[in-house]
Amino acid sequence: MIKILSLFFILSSYVHAYTFNNNFESSFKDNDVTVSVDELTTCASAGLTVYELRDLIEPAIDKFWNRVPTSSLRLKDGGFSETSTNINTGRLCAPTDDACITAAGATVIGPVKEIIIACNNNALNFGGANVLAVTIPNNFSGKSIAGAIIIINESSTIFSTLSKSDQIGVIAHEIGHAIGLGHTDNKSALMYFKTVDQRKALGEDDIRGVSYLYPMKIDGFGLLGGCGTIQNKDGTPGANLPFWQMGAALAVMILLFELIKLLKRSKTRSTT
Ligand SMILES: [Zn+2]
Repeated sequence: MIKILSLFFILSSYVHAYTFNNNFESSFKDNDVTVSVDELTTCASAGLTVYELRDLIEPAIDKFWNRVPTSSLRLKDGGFSETSTNINTGRLCAPTDDACITAAGATVIGPVKEIIIACNNNALNFGGANVLAVTIPNNFSGKSIAGAIIIINESSTIFSTLSKSDQIGVIAHEIGHAIGLGHTDNKSALMYFKTVDQRKALGEDDIRGVSYLYPMKIDGFGLLGGCGTIQNKDGTPGANLPFWQMGAALAVMILLFELIKLLKRSKTRSTT
């Protein structure tokens, strides 16, 4: 019984390895978020055209983030968007990063709405030539993300040397940061901190992370009743999935403890 109990705790302690890209677990408030390329960005020094960059959006959202049935997030390909201030050359700073914003001579990229992708040649934004891209939510509404920017390192041509599927994987990884996820140490995850070649789909950890930030509303009655119900548009939404999962885990724990108590009692009886 101790073995069974230990196994249960090992399984239940493996909840997740995902992290968030800020300390208040922010996400977009709206579940429909558009991903667009800045219409005046130039990517020639990065070795690709803006059209090639735009063509990476659809597979990056459809093969990865839009395939999670337990997540309510639905990304949309917005094509080209209106241009953002200083997008090609400016510093990309988090709104709370005063040192970045007030640095001498710094021109800071203005806040954007939803998710914008661009190329940028300011080496200060990238830790080195090996860094392919950087993403920072630079617009917040309270604790929710209102806009995030993905910049491809235009001071390097490394991005252009990747295969198209690896470029899609990089954009999908950066979109993961834009929607609020940080890095994970789980190697099978898209949000692993190193680029992994031939990434074709999200890992379990990414699925848990995006489902935590964008939980699918479940019809509680349908769930318990086991039949497919649908409420009219004024209906009250059911509980969020993470709370339901927590409740189920708690119920299993209580059952296990009760079972142990019963077994102990019967053992005591049989030995005395
Ligand atoms: Zn990353």
